[in-house]
Amino acid sequence: MKWIGAHVSVAGGVENAPLNANKIGAKAFAMFTKNQRRWESKPLTEKSIIKFKENLKEYGYKPEQILPHDGYLINLGNPDDEKREKSYNSFLDELKRCEQLGLVYLNIHPGSHLKLISEEECLDRISESINRALEETTSVTVVLENTAGQGTNLGYKFEHLAYIIDKIKDKSRIGVCYDTCHGFAAGYDIRTKEKYEETFEEFDKIIGLKYLKAFHVNDAKSEFKSKVDRHHNIGQGNIGVDAFKFLMADPRFEEKPMILETKDETLWPEEIKMLYKFAGE
Ligand SMILES: [Zn+2]
Ligand SMILES: [Zn+2]
Repeated sequence: MKWIGAHVSVAGGVENAPLNANKIGAKAFAMFTKNQRRWESKPLTEKSIIKFKENLKEYGYKPEQILPHDGYLINLGNPDDEKREKSYNSFLDELKRCEQLGLVYLNIHPGSHLKLISEEECLDRISESINRALEETTSVTVVLENTAGQGTNLGYKFEHLAYIIDKIKDKSRIGVCYDTCHGFAAGYDIRTKEKYEETFEEFDKIIGLKYLKAFHVNDAKSEFKSKVDRHHNIGQGNIGVDAFKFLMADPRFEEKPMILETKDETLWPEEIKMLYKFAGE
């Protein structure tokens, strides 16, 4: 079974996420556990945590169907020690929030070198930060997202993700989320069946498909290899609808959160229905 959904709102409290996901017919969802544009957030209240867990049960979501996303300010590869420490503390707080909520994943953007250090030095800092945070927590798996490569963001090559994973001590708590828009903008083509197969063969060869835990399902407003991160609704962008048919019908990708982050949210219920049709469900 495919787990298809979208990145839903937590306005009014995290406990509202399962309701919002249920409303659009989602079997998976992504969410923020704190304000994604601020460093500090109030701790989750006991009431909110209990209600969140109750709502998951009521609407039939398992922790594996949920892909929390970390805040936009965090850069675990920041060349500046003080700034990286600030990012690290925020990242650790996010992992702990996920644990409090009984969740099993935290989706992160690897980090940016800001043109101050080499790619390799930046990837080393990211791996160190993750190793340290995994030691300070007990259960959540860190899910690295491939990026479009905009600005100085790393993670746009499979080799970057493989490099980080290679340095992680506890391999049972590291994984990858494949964003179709980012991959396309970074130069991984999935527009034809042949290219689609090639891309995931390459993923398997360089990273290993066993690390592939989740997907961000987005068409691209940006051009192929443009390194520009601009999402579009399914079938309306430069990737086109066929790629999503291949993905939904792929038996290797059952029971993994597949999350829409497409532009026009009002289309999510329709998009989810369409993707389930492609999946034959
Ligand atoms: Zn994404
Ligand atoms: Zn994006």
